[in-house]
Amino acid sequence: MTQKDRCNRAYSFAFRSFQALIFAVLVLLMSFPVAAKNTLVLGVFSYRPLPVMQERFEPLIQHINSQLETTNIELQILSKSELEKALITNQLDLLLTNPSHYIHLQHHYELHGVLATLVNRERDVPVSQLGGVILATQTSGIQTLSDLKGREVAIPGRRFLGGFQTQAYELLQQAQLKIDQDIIVKEVGSHDAVIEALVQGQSEVGFVRSGIIEQVFDSNKPLPAGLRVINAQEFAGYPFAVSTRLYPEWPLVTVNPCPCDREILKAFINLDPDHPVMNKLAIDGFAPPANYSSLDQLAQTLRLPPYDLSNSLIDQLLDEYRWYLLLGSTLLFLILAFTLQQYRSNKRLRITLKQLKQQEQATLRAKQALNEKAELLKQSNNELEQFAYVASHDLRQPLRMITSYLRLLEQRLADHLDDETKRYFHFAIDGAQRKDEMLKALLDYSRVGQVGEPTKRLNSKKHLLEAIAFLNPEIKKTQAEIRVSDDHWPEIKASANELTRLFLNLIGNAIKYHQPNQAPKVAVAVQAIEGFWLFSIKDQGIGISPDQLDRVFNVFQRLHTREQFEGTGIGLAICKKIVLRHGGQIWVESGGIHQGSCFYFTLPRSDH
Ligand code: ADP
Repeated sequence: MTQKDRCNRAYSFAFRSFQALIFAVLVLLMSFPVAAKNTLVLGVFSYRPLPVMQERFEPLIQHINSQLETTNIELQILSKSELEKALITNQLDLLLTNPSHYIHLQHHYELHGVLATLVNRERDVPVSQLGGVILATQTSGIQTLSDLKGREVAIPGRRFLGGFQTQAYELLQQAQLKIDQDIIVKEVGSHDAVIEALVQGQSEVGFVRSGIIEQVFDSNKPLPAGLRVINAQEFAGYPFAVSTRLYPEWPLVTVNPCPCDREILKAFINLDPDHPVMNKLAIDGFAPPANYSSLDQLAQTLRLPPYDLSNSLIDQLLDEYRWYLLLGSTLLFLILAFTLQQYRSNKRLRITLKQLKQQEQATLRAKQALNEKAELLKQSNNELEQFAYVASHDLRQPLRMITSYLRLLEQRLADHLDDETKRYFHFAIDGAQRKDEMLKALLDYSRVGQVGEPTKRLNSKKHLLEAIAFLNPEIKKTQAEIRVSDDHWPEIKASANELTRLFLNLIGNAIKYHQPNQAPKVAVAVQAIEGFWLFSIKDQGIGISPDQLDRVFNVFQRLHTREQFEGTGIGLAICKKIVLRHGGQIWVESGGIHQGSCFYFTLPRSDH
């Protein structure tokens, strides 16, 4: 294949591809439908029964649609509540309603603005405003607005703008007369009924919309029954009798802004008054938007919707869902109350917890301080005992020297001393000996717990019998009777030599402090009490005066002189020290002097 052939083939392939592409694009374009018109929904307030409204407005909308290129309007005839529901659900683009309703809607919904104002045709005259007429009979004597004070007025109904509200506003503004307070109103249902009541003489005053009297009566003749218009106003170009200021007619409202607004406005404004659809509706067309602020002012002053919430949608909803709301708010209240209570009790708990923690910390600190103090006390006790031990031990040496040298002196000077000096020597040696005994006793006392055997489980009876054996000489000498009870003698945890010492001192005292000329009788017993063993050593001796019972356990405290009974006054102090060291208590009971004594001590039960 030549170079030229290859070029031709490539060219014809490219051309066929291009042809196919063009064909595909054409097929694609043909498969799309012609662009649809943008549909807008127009809601019209249904002031007459639905079929009547449909019949009147449908031709107008069809006519408008025929004028529109990009837009198609769909008509919906709706009641006031239906209109509001459609607004809530965003189903409307345009709406046509009466001026008062528009003021009400304007306050509750996002409306874009008024596109045009309806121009009515009344008696072949275009009218885009309305007002109110106050009619009074000749016989009523009413000349001015102020004359209406205290009168009863026939009105078609309170919801009528031209038949009631405009007059009420004017009376308030110009004559400061308030409806229901200064003027009584009687609702008779319609404009025709008001005229009828006046003509028949049933009412002296009545309110009707502007244009009504011209509809009912021949305008070339005076009004019947001497009726006359009170507070008559003159407005250039306005063809009807009127007693109040004028307010704009129905607004055509755009709910949402749309680029098609201009086109729609143009179609409505340019409606031909002579077109048959206009005759059907008895309208002249639409004019550029009027100012509706005067209506807003009127509604505000008279507390009409939306400034009177009684008729608002909110109230309707409240009415409809009252029980749900009541239930909901009760539940909400309960939840709130519960939450509040929970919050409060939580707060209380938190505070209590905090206080508890603080108390715990304070207790911990106090315990720590107590432990530190106990430790310090233990140290100082140890030091004191150490001191007592060292002092009593070391002081004995010089004391023995004094005694020895005094004795030597006494022997050496024996022949040269008179009796009195010998007695002095005797006192000095005796004092030194006595001091030595006391130091020895103190040494004994300080040795308790220091040099004693370690605690272990002991047979208490064995140590009791050991103590009695030590006391054998005294027992024989005094012919004492020691009775050991047949009780169960327990095992206890104690230091062996200290336990023997305890029995020894107490039984020894019971023997020593017996009644003169009477052999001592001692009974030793034991019994179990809560957590302890209670030992008792009872004698029939000299007894102890009740006020001295506590003193006897103090160091060097004696109730008798040495002449009466030998002793150092340390025995019972040692007993107390031993018992306390083992975790028990010691005390004495006595009926008094010559009544005998009973010494008790407790030791913890080792099985507890
Ligand atoms: P001491 O017997 O060496 O004087 P104690 O400390 O043993 O010292 O006794 C202190 C004091 O208690 C005694 O001096 C005595 O007056 C009194 N006492 C002790 N035991 C008895 C007892 N069984 N009956 C009466 N008094 C007693």
